[in-house]
Amino acid sequence: MIMIPKQLGEVAAFGGSNVDPSVKSCFEYTKAKEFINLEQFLNWIKLEPQSIVWLPVLHRLSVAESARHEAKCSICKEYPIIGFRYRSLKHFNFDICQNCFFSGRKVKGFKFDHPLLEYYSPISHNFIK
Ligand SMILES: [Zn+2]
Repeated sequence: MIMIPKQLGEVAAFGGSNVDPSVKSCFEYTKAKEFINLEQFLNWIKLEPQSIVWLPVLHRLSVAESARHEAKCSICKEYPIIGFRYRSLKHFNFDICQNCFFSGRKVKGFKFDHPLLEYYSPISHNFIK
């Protein structure tokens, strides 16, 4: 599992070239001497160790693939937004699709100096803040 990022050429982002530190970390956390049982392993995994942090990222990616958001991209005007949706936490009704986000497209006269919230699955619009 730890070696998967290496096979995919994603070592720079997720590591994965060295198994020993993760095995050592697991043994230290569980205080196990010779073997680690499933419950101990799962408790260690819940800490989201760096070596498997790609796993929740992969999960978000796979969920986002089929996500349709009832929102329009403020840059390219795509509607609905498919995939990841990035919503501004500062500006009302400002959304960016994943294509514009990943390619770094900008809006004239608009500075991206504010946090964006990433959505990988559609959210309910049945509530008003
Ligand atoms: Zn867009």
